Amino acid sequence: MDVASLADAVTKGDRRALARAITLVESGRADHRAQALDLVAAAGHAGRQALRIGLSGTPGVGKSTFIEAFGLMLTGQGLRVAVLAVDPSSARSGGSILGDKTRMERLSRDPLAFIRPSPSQTHLGGVARRTREAVALCEAAGFDVVLVETVGVGQSETMVAQLCDIFVLLLAPAGGDELQGVKRGIMEMADLILVNKADGELKPAALRTCADYAGALHLLRRRPQDPPGFPRAMTVSALDSAGLAAAWDDMQALTGWRRDHGHFTATRAAQARHWFEHEVRQGLLAILTRPGPVRDSLARLGDAVARGQVTPEAAAAHILAELDQRSFISFQT
Ligand code: GDP
Repeated sequence: MDVASLADAVTKGDRRALARAITLVESGRADHRAQALDLVAAAGHAGRQALRIGLSGTPGVGKSTFIEAFGLMLTGQGLRVAVLAVDPSSARSGGSILGDKTRMERLSRDPLAFIRPSPSQTHLGGVARRTREAVALCEAAGFDVVLVETVGVGQSETMVAQLCDIFVLLLAPAGGDELQGVKRGIMEMADLILVNKADGELKPAALRTCADYAGALHLLRRRPQDPPGFPRAMTVSALDSAGLAAAWDDMQALTGWRRDHGHFTATRAAQARHWFEHEVRQGLLAILTRPGPVRDSLARLGDAVARGQVTPEAAAAHILAELDQRSFISFQT
């Protein structure tokens, strides 16, 4: 199938076409990359928008249980839900924490849902791009909600927060009264903290943990894109489907406020600019490492620096001048 027909099938909501399209954006082959760019651009002409929700949590906190229950609640309301997983561990080791086929079995059978596990072999730098393009394809396919799930590993949370409209942190009840070592930077990205497993014997601990986080959130500087009362912490039980409707209400209230106050569009615009600049920086770094004259100069000058024949600063200035003199076109070769 050519790119135009594939884009057309995606925008008609054809799930097999969507799966093929995502496979194409995941490919590392240069000819596939060119096709993927055309495909995502063509699909984007549909001009559709989904609510992009990022969900992060360490393994075992209940992400798949939550997404299944939350997703089924949304499809029960007639909404179309796509779930994408971002699993940096799979890029590194080939083994996925999130890729288990048995996860979210009921949701995966729901005709209104589409679930895509993390690809196992994507190189790390490709994860962000693959995810952004996959989100764009799901939007073009007419999904109302795109859930991007990630484990709390490395940079993946920052990356997911940078491509979503709402960032949700899922936590488990803590044993003690400490804040589970959740990094301040992660808390600062959260719009909603959901303390899961607020059921049975764990309920009192969940309520305590939730109160701790509510207090901690209160101490953070208020961001311009937050209405009063946000970010907020609440308890849920994914197992009992308790609190999920309230969480959805909060997400909608937050999104509505941001739309009304211009923050929704402004944030997406800032995110697009961020990823554009990120891609350019990645491309420039690639020029330094792939076989070619620049890499050769780098190695040669590196040796000279090591031998003390030239200072590191002078050598760097030389390389940068060399880069400056090459035409933009030669960067591509
Ligand atoms: P993930 O690794 O974050 O995707 O976590 P899972 O969804 O696989 O859940 C890990 C374990 O926690 C499983 O044994 C679930 O049954 C359990 N679990 C998930 N949600 C809840 C909940 O709301 N209450 C309780 N009691 N257990 C839960």
